Amino acid sequence: MKFSWKLVALWAVPILLIGFFFLQGSFAPSNGPTTQNAANTRMTYGRFMEYLDAGRVTTVDLFEEGRTAIVEAVDPELDNRVQRMRVDLPGNNSPELIDRLVESGVNLDIHAPGNGGAILGLVSNLIFPVLLIVGLFFLFRRSGSGGPGGPGQAMNFGKSKAKFQMQAETGVMFDDVAGIEEAKEELQEVVTFLKKPERFTAVGARIPKGVLLVGPPGTGKTLLAKAIAGEAGTPFFSISGSEFVEMFVGVGASRVRDLFKKAKENAPCIIFIDEIDAVGRQRGAGIGGGNDEREQTLNQLLTEMDGFEGNTGIIIIAATNRPDVLDSALLRPGRFDRQVTVDTPDIKGRLEVLGVHSRDKKLADDIKLDVIARRTPGFSGADLANLLNEAAILTARRRKEAITMTEIDDAVDRVVAGMEGTPLIDGKSKRLIAYHEVGHAMVGTLVKDHDPVQKVTLIPRGQAQGLTWFAPDEDQSLVSKNQLIARIMGALGGRAAEEVIFGEDEITTGAGNDIQQVAGMARQMVTRFGMSDLGQLSLESESPEVFLGQGLMSRSGEYSERIAKQIDAAVQKIVHSSYADTLTIMRDNREVMDRLVDLLIERETIDGDEFRQIVAEYAEVPEKERFTPVL
Ligand code: ADP
Ligand code: ZN
Repeated sequence: MKFSWKLVALWAVPILLIGFFFLQGSFAPSNGPTTQNAANTRMTYGRFMEYLDAGRVTTVDLFEEGRTAIVEAVDPELDNRVQRMRVDLPGNNSPELIDRLVESGVNLDIHAPGNGGAILGLVSNLIFPVLLIVGLFFLFRRSGSGGPGGPGQAMNFGKSKAKFQMQAETGVMFDDVAGIEEAKEELQEVVTFLKKPERFTAVGARIPKGVLLVGPPGTGKTLLAKAIAGEAGTPFFSISGSEFVEMFVGVGASRVRDLFKKAKENAPCIIFIDEIDAVGRQRGAGIGGGNDEREQTLNQLLTEMDGFEGNTGIIIIAATNRPDVLDSALLRPGRFDRQVTVDTPDIKGRLEVLGVHSRDKKLADDIKLDVIARRTPGFSGADLANLLNEAAILTARRRKEAITMTEIDDAVDRVVAGMEGTPLIDGKSKRLIAYHEVGHAMVGTLVKDHDPVQKVTLIPRGQAQGLTWFAPDEDQSLVSKNQLIARIMGALGGRAAEEVIFGEDEITTGAGNDIQQVAGMARQMVTRFGMSDLGQLSLESESPEVFLGQGLMSRSGEYSERIAKQIDAAVQKIVHSSYADTLTIMRDNREVMDRLVDLLIERETIDGDEFRQIVAEYAEVPEKERFTPVL
């Protein structure tokens, strides 16, 4: 896994959690892969929940112990046409989700994994070799049957692909978009282009054809595009780049043609292309030949964009999270020559988004939106919308009159870490997980530069069997070397506790995820931030992702083999010395850890304040400097 600075930031910016991951999750034997592969379109979990609430979901098939669902939903805007989509779920055939599906009256089918439980138990002991083999097997199979798959599926596939969607009126206004003021201001002008083009053409101005919205998922790019159409009172055409990728040669190009033809008939209007990077990637950069279909689609798109005059009244808005991979031809003048950044909201922005989405919700008097905004650093607009919706659902299920802070808290946990599972019964595994989590939390409490512990819990969520939550600082724009080392130690805390308490031979796979994060952070300290003996060398660029072979080429020239060895040694040194310090913390605090583990097993959850108080009876707990923005 390659790590970018974004990932390091991600590690800290949302409410930080370190889970005890059971690797079993990643390779449950799946049943009926044919049926699962039939849905090539993916839908996010959040969108699935929205569809479910809107009553659009008709059928749900759960596979892989509830980790994957094939969902059939109807589209009321397109004569209730049925779409089949694949959704990755938090997993475990969660009773909560199943209840909710049953309540909504969808046609539910749960496909049992072939002989699942027994095999899983056995397999977790052989985890590494088997994981590797199974991983290779799946990889192989996937690439072998890439694309739409066998002949039998082709028809289904053609049928389920949304051509493009048209909304005569989006009904979305700028008021519905919050927390991204700069982007909104920039786009206000586009509304005028659509409504009063003559104002610009009269003085000889060329109206821009394309606007590229750049930002992470869920920040409101689609919503903004819809709001432009809504404010201007024009129709909204939309299509997603990812839908072209697996198509047969020629289909994508003809869809693009159709789309522009329809748009011209309905001008003035907005064409929205989501995930444009899926079609718009740099051409000719593939390993072993390019993707003909993608290139043809892209060429068609460029031709269409050049083929109409700026004053036709069509404005194309495209969204991406990876502007760096786009073909430069797309960014030339007369095409997508305007770029607008749409970022995850800051605390003030989050407060505004919460304001928009709480308009139609019933809130109890104890709810303070600014408290929620403080608790949700790193949340996107979509996460916040989802949070309030989940809280509302919990409120209804608990038969309460209005949403209270309890529902909000539960919903935050759920949005960040997935659905709640059933706690393990007391036993050796549970003790081990408890020590592991307390290990993380001890570092979080005793190391000055670590974010403070918010809570430690043994209630499983998503794939994690236990979780330690940290409260991140709002101001994360710069991260110091000490903070990075503290985070590395924090991530190592789980493993260190396992080793000190149970012995070197009893350490478990549960620390796998932690260790991966550690490797990523330590490596970036060396290669990107000049924080090692190697000095101030920047040896890797921000997105070291090998992209269709392009990265491979430019990469090899970056540093010599001698430097590569030095990098490895420097990374090792950071990890080793951090681990040694972490082990010392565990050895010196054995007594309080035993007490905390007993308490954790008894209560399942300990909150941060209580945790600190107990530790303070045994050791000196450093004061942490926090940045608290005023609202
Ligand atoms: P993107 O296109 O950037 O992935 P979307 O526009 O699809 O994100 O956002 C999904 C949903 O999340 C929206 O329909 C809206 O309910 C909510 N949302 C996201 N960003 C915002 C925002 N800035 N203001 C209000 N709601 C938002
Ligand atoms: Zn851990």
